[in-house]
Amino acid sequence: MFPRLWVTSVTPVRLPEEILLGLDRTLDEMSSVRRGLGILGGTFDPPHIGHIAAAKAVFEALLLERVLLMVANEPWQKVGHRPLSAPEDRLAMTRAAVKGIDGLETSDLEIRRGGPTYTIDSLEELRSADPDTELFLILGADAAAGLDTWHRSSELPGLATLVIVERDGETRAEALPEWSIERVSMPQVDISSTELRSFAARGVTLSPYVPEPVIAEIASRGLYGLADS
Ligand code: ATP
Ligand code: MG
Repeated sequence: MFPRLWVTSVTPVRLPEEILLGLDRTLDEMSSVRRGLGILGGTFDPPHIGHIAAAKAVFEALLLERVLLMVANEPWQKVGHRPLSAPEDRLAMTRAAVKGIDGLETSDLEIRRGGPTYTIDSLEELRSADPDTELFLILGADAAAGLDTWHRSSELPGLATLVIVERDGETRAEALPEWSIERVSMPQVDISSTELRSFAARGVTLSPYVPEPVIAEIASRGLYGLADS
């Protein structure tokens, strides 16, 4: 009788400890397995939860070391079509958007380089800075569909694996035979920076599509006609 009582009394104490030890091991294993650098390029005018959700989905699905939200200096396909916020303002908003989010960082590489922003230049720079790190170019399905219009587009597949982030069930990107491709699905976040700028122009709140620290940055910089009251 005594041994049975003893066993039942210690079981509830030992089980959680074993589970915790197991979790520690799993986290250690995951951090040592994580490798590769994700790059989510964009104008981020303003950054929104769709960008964050896409970057985070890829970080987790591919077990990358980190994902850079790379702020374009002069997005040449947008210049001339609409007014753009200054690169420094877009960088500050993007920094505010990723602050405190594990695995996500901001890069000012393209702003420091200056001039029109071509992804090929950024990939070449990252590759020569660290030839051993595999690069993952992350694109929403809409952006992937226009890849062939990019500067020196035929050279891009030699530098990175393409990651197409697809909203649930969506497969809009054409077949891209020259690329090594990963597809990552994410919950649909049906918002764009264009819609958000139009919200601001109409006096509609940017919350909850834009994180609060970004909204504070917008207000303090007086962007999109919004200012601290
Ligand atoms: P704009 O309306 O000014 O074009 P945007 O919201 O589309 O802005 P971009 O800077 O053009 O943002 O996009 C950067 C990257 O983020 C692209 O690869 C794009 O496909 C992706 N992206 C943008 N919005 C979303 C979203 N809601 N969900 C998932 N990915 C997105
Ligand atoms: Mg866009």
